[in-house]
Parts: sequence; C-alpha cells; structure tokens
Amino acid sequence: MFVAEGNRIDSGRYTTNSNSIEFGPWHISYDISCILPSVCSTKVVCERDDDQFCQFCLYCKELDIPHFPDMVFPKNVLRLEHTSGAEIQFNPLDALRRVSSRLEAIEVSCAEAWQESRPDAEKPKKPFDWTFSTDYKGTLSNNITVEPTNETIDFDILKRKDQILFYHDLTLFEDELHDHGISKLSVKIRVMPSYWYVLQRYFLRVDDVMVRSHETRMFHMLNTDYILREYSTKEAKAQDINIPTSQMKEADDVIPLLPVKQKVTEKLTVNTQTK
Ligand SMILES: [Zn+2]
Repeated sequence: MFVAEGNRIDSGRYTTNSNSIEFGPWHISYDISCILPSVCSTKVVCERDDDQFCQFCLYCKELDIPHFPDMVFPKNVLRLEHTSGAEIQFNPLDALRRVSSRLEAIEVSCAEAWQESRPDAEKPKKPFDWTFSTDYKGTLSNNITVEPTNETIDFDILKRKDQILFYHDLTLFEDELHDHGISKLSVKIRVMPSYWYVLQRYFLRVDDVMVRSHETRMFHMLNTDYILREYSTKEAKAQDINIPTSQMKEADDVIPLLPVKQKVTEKLTVNTQTK
C-alpha cells in the first residue's frame, strides 16, 4: 500500500533508536539514526544492482539533485500509523524529492559563491535549488483523503499547559550553505492527553540575502476522524527586516517577523473502510 524508504533493504550498518506511544487508534513513533555517508559504504552489494543498496546509493538513485545537504539523516523518520492501515510519515528522502531543479532569482546571487566553495563539485548539468527549499508536507498513504477546509487549527488549545506525554524534535536534513547561512528541515511531534500535534519546519537563511520558512502543522483531536494540516510559507529579503541575518541564529527568533506569502489549511480524513 505504501512503500517508505525505511522499508527498503539497507545493506549498510545502522543502529537506530526508536520510541513510540499509542494514542487512540494511532501508533506514533520515531526513529533516530546517524548521518548519510558521503560515499557508498557497500560497493560489492550496491554494484550488483539487484535492488539492495546502501542509503547513499539509494539517495543517488532516487533523487534528481546533483548534491545532497551536508547532513542528511536518512533514518530520522516520524510515523503516525492508524489501525486502519493509514499512515502519515515525515522522512528526508521524500522531502528532498520535492526540492526544485529550478533556480529562483534570489538564489542566483549566491549561486556563484556556492559553486566556488565546492570546487570538487561537478558543475551541475542543470541548475538546481542549492538552498534545498522544499514544499514537502509529509507523506500520506492513499487511504487518506485530502480536502480543502475553512476550519483552522485552534492555537488556544496548543497553548494550554496540559501534560506532555510524548515529545521529540527530529532533524531531517541540514546544510550550512558553506558558511553563507543555513537550510534546515526538522519535525517536532507533541502528544498531549487530548491531541497530537506535528510541526515540520523548513528554515532558510542566506546571510545578507534572505530568510524563508515553510511550515507544515498537523493537528488531531482525540475521538475525531480527521487531521487539520496547515501549510504556510513566509519570506523576506534581508534588507526588509530590521535585524542582520547573521543574528538570526534560531528560526524561532525570525519566523514570527516574516510576512506570510501563502497559508492553506486542509482536512485529512482517514478512510477506515479501506483495509
Ligand atoms: Zn552503495
């Protein structure tokens, strides 16, 4: 029904830490593991080309971008599995699939510096978005219906000081743009007695050029059969914000200051009829 990268055979050596919690019909879990190697770790196996690949070769095969971020955590995966078989996942491979191979004007100003900083890097055959900006909103199995909605996430509920039953913050990938800033995708999960809440955040800071965020929020209230998913993008040029980009160390310091470009809320319904 749904083949995740984590289900692929991995011939590399990985130790994975996991943790999980049950929430009504949901099994919520995450894995954490080490960084994606920058070379093939099991040449003998990977060169057989019989569908067994190390993580590095899998990424090379699956992705259409000539370089990966400095740090990719291939097995850092957040899973929300419903007893019906429906599944929501946040994983770095699917996020990187959604990095555009198109360069936007604002990124061009730094593209040369990027290329110079990586003399070993083969000049990309086609330009690609070296900021790794992604509009990834999570991976959904196909028994989840997505519809537009006017309902919005109730942020007052999120502010209540309830007991936190389960929490984790996972980095999916990160790149320092060769000291020109930061590009980072991370996802947080919080399970409370009456709801679960996910915040995935892509944050980009190109020093003295721009700041951007792409945030995906998912909210599910206990005893309801749907999830609200809010996707919002924000962006500003460095010259339009009053603090120097170099002082924006934490995404939390700057994202609230950025103007909203786009905000869409959708309703995700788990179709329990389909097994
Ligand atoms: Zn390999």
